[in-house]
Amino acid sequence: MTVYSFRYETDTLFYMLKDLGDKSGRKYLILDDSLSILYSNNLYTELTGFELQDIYRFPFRSLLQQKMLHYEIKEIEERLHKGKITKAELMHDRKSGIPFYAGLECLPFQSEQNHTKLVLVFVKDVTYIQLQNFVDRLEKEMFQAIQHEISFIEKIQLICNGIDHLFHPGCFTTFILQHHDKFQMIQSDLFHQGKLIQYPLEQSSELKCYEKMMHIRQVAVYEDFNHLYLHQPHKDLALENGFTRCIFLPVRKEEEKIGVMVIYFGQEVYESSVFAYFFEKIIDLIMLAYSYEKKQQQIYALAYMDLSTGMVNRHGFIGRLKELKELDGVIYLLEPTEFSRIVELYGRDSGEALLKQMYERILEKCEGKHILVGRFVSSSIILYMEKDEAGIKQMTDFLKMLVEEPFLIEGRNIYITLKSGGSSIRTGESLKDSIRHAESALSEAKTYSGTMARFYYQENDAQLEKELLILNHLTEAIKNKEITAFFQPKVELRRGRITSMEALARWTSPILGYVSPAEFIPVAERAGLIRDIDLQIIEQVLKWFQQRQYEGKRIVPVAINISPEHFYYPRFVEELEQLIKKYYADPNYLIIEITESLGLVDIKRAQEIIEKLFVRGLKTSVDDFGMGYSSLSYLQKLPFSELKIDRSFTSRIHEAGTLAIVRSIIQIAYNLEIDVVAEGVETKEQADVLYELGCNCVQGYLFYRPMSFRELEERNI
Ligand code: C2E
Ligand code: MG
Ligand code: MG
Repeated sequence: MTVYSFRYETDTLFYMLKDLGDKSGRKYLILDDSLSILYSNNLYTELTGFELQDIYRFPFRSLLQQKMLHYEIKEIEERLHKGKITKAELMHDRKSGIPFYAGLECLPFQSEQNHTKLVLVFVKDVTYIQLQNFVDRLEKEMFQAIQHEISFIEKIQLICNGIDHLFHPGCFTTFILQHHDKFQMIQSDLFHQGKLIQYPLEQSSELKCYEKMMHIRQVAVYEDFNHLYLHQPHKDLALENGFTRCIFLPVRKEEEKIGVMVIYFGQEVYESSVFAYFFEKIIDLIMLAYSYEKKQQQIYALAYMDLSTGMVNRHGFIGRLKELKELDGVIYLLEPTEFSRIVELYGRDSGEALLKQMYERILEKCEGKHILVGRFVSSSIILYMEKDEAGIKQMTDFLKMLVEEPFLIEGRNIYITLKSGGSSIRTGESLKDSIRHAESALSEAKTYSGTMARFYYQENDAQLEKELLILNHLTEAIKNKEITAFFQPKVELRRGRITSMEALARWTSPILGYVSPAEFIPVAERAGLIRDIDLQIIEQVLKWFQQRQYEGKRIVPVAINISPEHFYYPRFVEELEQLIKKYYADPNYLIIEITESLGLVDIKRAQEIIEKLFVRGLKTSVDDFGMGYSSLSYLQKLPFSELKIDRSFTSRIHEAGTLAIVRSIIQIAYNLEIDVVAEGVETKEQADVLYELGCNCVQGYLFYRPMSFRELEERNI
């Protein structure tokens, strides 16, 4: 750096500098050795309004915004004392109070002893350039922000921060974003470390104040904001920092109000013409961020929203879930049992309406909880509930709450039932797996009637594997006629007489060994193979009848288990009739057992089928009575001839509660003139209690285990 060192007397030096300054045609000042003002030219007066007598012998620093850049001014002064040429840009006062950005070029002149004697300072108004540079910089940052997919709020914050830095520490910038009926505060992170505040809507006076500011179509400067109803914490913060004025920049797109920027600032008043341009640019930038946000939202809506219900779609749901920093909760899949029926009856729109109402109900019932809801597939909803206790009980309660009230479909109140599959999810666990698990739990729930929740536990995987193995061999088994009928007699307690027998399917696979019907029957039901099995069992029974008849032996009625899928199969009765004819059997010897826990959802159809069977001389029996969710009332509507009390009641008949239930079941059956059979009688005590209650017919290991044809023949039954 060049040091201008002159040996002249100060006076000579002064005139020399003045001459230099005048010749330059620029605004300038001359400072003395203590950096106070000795001289200013007319051009300087024009720019600042200060006459020489106003500022004569004033320290130059007093014209600069001292509090702003204290360290910077000090540094400049040190440099000048050392005789170094110094350039700087600083806020400079005007007599009017309106500051400007001054570009300073300071040339110190030193004595022989290296003491700075005088300083020639050229002054230039660079406000416009400064602001232009700032806007350019901000624009660049905004494009980068867009590239990096930074959120809209963060973009606004970027602008707030920029303004605060530009005038630091002369202002505090906030933005009030209006989003539907909510107001959101965004502020520079200088004061609040960038925390966002959801503005509470209740404080209507503040709300009105901001709304009013948004209505004004131009920038408004308030000399004193104390009387305005601004957000109190902001007001306090501004006052603490000595900011007493504020500027409002309303941001709106035609009639759409976006928000208002509020800049609190101190003593300085900025020249309006220059700043008008600046504010316009700021508003443009916010608009840019806003339009981009809107576009993004549209794209998001197309890709991630389910437009007919307003939920996010499956991808949207997964995306949002992935955004959560911490995952600790439960995933539920919810599906109305009657979805496809409703679509069939009332059209696709009604199905959509049902899901939409469910969605609204979920939001309402889960208020205050952290949840995410989305549409999973056309008929189901996916829900993530934070920190929900994973369990069937909680799920069942939740489902019941959702379907307590009817849904409004096509002007009608319709009650529905729900199926739900749940699985837990934690950070670090695979989301895909968790959803798959919920899906498998849902499929399981679907095998039950009524509202039903199933939860996935780790063991389910082993179960699934086993089921797959069974399924793989089941088709072969049917083809090779590996499944055979066993018989378990039903016994009259009073006389020990066999009244009838139940045919039970048995399968000993050459590969898997013995597989219990409790395992393969559900698999067959799900795989659509159950009809084949049932028909094979029926055929074996009918053949046996024919054989016994041929041999002139006694025939007792045989009950055959029919799964709901088969029972509701349109040609079920016809097929059965054909088989009966084929073997010249007497239909009076056949009883059809239908399990209560699965069937009887469609009472009307069940009624028709049972009546058809009745007309053809076949009897019907409700199996596993008491296990299902159907009410007792349907018993009156359906002409059953027999009711079988489920084994779980028999095994707990010593408990008072169970005893009371069994007593009333027997009572109802008696009143409706339906025979009662108790299943699973294993002990003498159970038989005695049942007998006392009026149940005369039982089935169980106490009397007979299921037996093969051969065993029956051998035991002469
Ligand atoms: P279910 O119709 O309720 O049959 C009664 C079940 O209880 C049979 O189980 C029988 O062996 C068992 N049981 C009978 N007495 C006792 C006892 O005293 N104690 C105990 N612990 N159990 C006893 P199984 O044979 O394992 O059959 C299970 C279920 O599979 C049946 O329940 C029925 O719903 C179904 N099923 C069996 N065979 C067929 C079939 O051919 N077609 C269809 N669709 N379902 C079948
Ligand atoms: Mg049965
Ligand atoms: Mg049963």
